[in-house]
Amino acid sequence: MAVQSPARRLLSRLRVMMASDATSLSDIVALVAGEMVAEVCSVYALRAGEILELRATRGLNPNSVGRTRLRVGEGIVGLVAATGQPLNLADAQNHPAFAYRPETGEEPYASMLAVPVRRGGRTLGVLTVQNRASRHYTDDEAEVLETVAMLLANSLVSDGTDTREGFAGSLPRQFDASLLSSGIVFGAVLLAGADMAPKRLLAEDSAAELARLQHALGAMRQGLDSLIETQLPAGDAPRDILDATRQVAADDGWLRRVAEAIRGGLSAEAAVHRIAQDFRARMRKIVDPYLRERLADLEDLAARLIAALDGSDSNPVDATGAILLVRRLGPAQLLEWHRRGIAGVVIEEGSAGGHAAIVARALGLPAVGGARGVIDAAESGDEAVLDADEGTLILRPDPSVREAYERALAARAMRSAAWHALRDAPSVTRDGTPFSLMINAGLGLELDQLAITGARGIGLFRTEIAMMARGSIPDVAEQAAIYSRVMDVAGDRPVLFRTLDLGSDKLLPDSPRAEEENPAMGWRSLRVGLDRPAILRRQLRALLLAAGGRKLSVMFPMVATISEFRQARGLLFAEAARIRPAPEKLSIGTMLEVPSLLWQLPELMAEANFVSIGSNDLTQFLFAADRGTPALAERYDFLSVPMLRLLVSVIEAASATGVSLSLCGEAASRPLDAAVLLAIGIDTLSMSASSLLGVKEGLSALDLKAFKSYLQTLRRTAATYTSLREPIGAWARDHGLNV
Ligand code: PEP
Ligand code: MG
Repeated sequence: MAVQSPARRLLSRLRVMMASDATSLSDIVALVAGEMVAEVCSVYALRAGEILELRATRGLNPNSVGRTRLRVGEGIVGLVAATGQPLNLADAQNHPAFAYRPETGEEPYASMLAVPVRRGGRTLGVLTVQNRASRHYTDDEAEVLETVAMLLANSLVSDGTDTREGFAGSLPRQFDASLLSSGIVFGAVLLAGADMAPKRLLAEDSAAELARLQHALGAMRQGLDSLIETQLPAGDAPRDILDATRQVAADDGWLRRVAEAIRGGLSAEAAVHRIAQDFRARMRKIVDPYLRERLADLEDLAARLIAALDGSDSNPVDATGAILLVRRLGPAQLLEWHRRGIAGVVIEEGSAGGHAAIVARALGLPAVGGARGVIDAAESGDEAVLDADEGTLILRPDPSVREAYERALAARAMRSAAWHALRDAPSVTRDGTPFSLMINAGLGLELDQLAITGARGIGLFRTEIAMMARGSIPDVAEQAAIYSRVMDVAGDRPVLFRTLDLGSDKLLPDSPRAEEENPAMGWRSLRVGLDRPAILRRQLRALLLAAGGRKLSVMFPMVATISEFRQARGLLFAEAARIRPAPEKLSIGTMLEVPSLLWQLPELMAEANFVSIGSNDLTQFLFAADRGTPALAERYDFLSVPMLRLLVSVIEAASATGVSLSLCGEAASRPLDAAVLLAIGIDTLSMSASSLLGVKEGLSALDLKAFKSYLQTLRRTAATYTSLREPIGAWARDHGLNV
């Protein structure tokens, strides 16, 4: 029989110990001290208020347990907790950070090894060993102690014993975030990707684990290779990037560390997880963007490897009712998670104008973004309340908080019942001006919202959403079936079909990501359609076939020049000439979302049948402010002097030629913005279905004449400040409007 290494022996004894419910932290520190031949082994746990408390010790004065406390950043233990980095000291007491605590009786111990107990990116505590003799601990010893720390974090927190032992993982915490899609939900949190802890931590048979690792690596490299070989032409920038990723995947350094951790007794997935954790801690400090990206590549690879190893890629986790926490999320991934049943989503780096947010609204899925630090603080399985309307996520809520939310939800249900009564009410302001509200849609399951909301029609059908949901572009017949169903459900109500708006953050899952410096301003949308007309022509053909003699409205996105509009219209005419029966009426229009069109308004209004303002992109390009960047979300306001001036000039150009004008960006979803739009003369608004009745309630209660005159005065006197939201909001509240 092979002789067990000390590390393996420690881990296998730990495994046996942790399997028993009766095991306490004291048993664990005693075992570690014995196996590592240390005179002291202690665990400090993080408590509320950033305090580290001695929770268990072998070797220090037992009476100091529960009494000795250090602030994060104070003493060596506090320093390790603050930095997330281990310290290996031959002469701890002369370290500048050393904080003397007489009650512990630690004077005799010269050397100290202290490692963070981390979970995800979050520090839960610190594990230390100390010895009398002054020496540096070996790399192997440091590795073993870090592995024990990982096991402590994973088992003590995930099985709930943390309350018994006092880890801070059980304390409620509230995070501020920004609203992406409204709603309130309760549920268990689900962390995805590399932040997810592996299910199996320890393994007896390291040879078998090494073989599993090799197998998973092989599969992962093959996937990368085939992506590079089959999808990308040689010499392209994306190819270089993927090549770099492939090199990272083949890099010996980190693989050697993973293999060592396996030989130390970890399962293959736990070993990858453990090394990835180190990378994450290192990544925090790196400012160099190139290096950060390389480490991010590694993290991504680690996530793929863990998924391949624990089978979660082929056997996706059941996410029913969960609140998903992710750092970043594309719209296609969100659709995938929605299919798996999530009830809400928190996107750490998400903002309201991003496409994931739009998809969330389309799905009626409560969502918030910009919740800094939430991933590091949460565990999969933690209870949470996601209150998207207030922009908060409460982790591990107190029962009383939960009850308060239950009451709020009941009240909300009553309010939405009142809203539904509005459905059949005429769309007119209090003083009799009509307006027209439509929904934005993109998925079959959204079509019943037409009946639910009583919308006038679909003012924006985002055709790319259905493609993202299925992961590819269907052939003409399948596309025609999708569009024809939309027209069937809509009946007499108009539908503005927007042609494919892929690119930027709307990518098909298997399309190679075009690595552009500025993808939102890159080769996307109609630009792709005009450069590769085959796809666009197929879509136009499908739309004409779907119409089958009915009325058809086709809208082109991201038009920047009148000649692009003419070219696109030319393709549509060419298809229309071949298809019979011809539509009863063919309306051709454009989105107005690229500012250059503003200086081509006379031509545009003379040639388009309709124009729909895409306020999301228009705002982003007008202010040169990425719609997906949370830090910019509050900086430029749609209700601002420059935006209103712009809109007024568009309205004037449209009314000069009688072109129908609408607005279909997210601004239409906000009752206050909608009131302003109506007051300046845009009476057709298209928005996410979940907002429609709220907007209708606001507009129906509006005395438009009084509001117009207030707005006129405000616009005359307000030229010196940018956002008009405050004063307009105050006026609305004073006039009893619920906006
Ligand atoms: C817009 O840009 O305002 C718009 C409606 O299009 P999308 O949000 O799909 O880019
Ligand atoms: Mg757009």
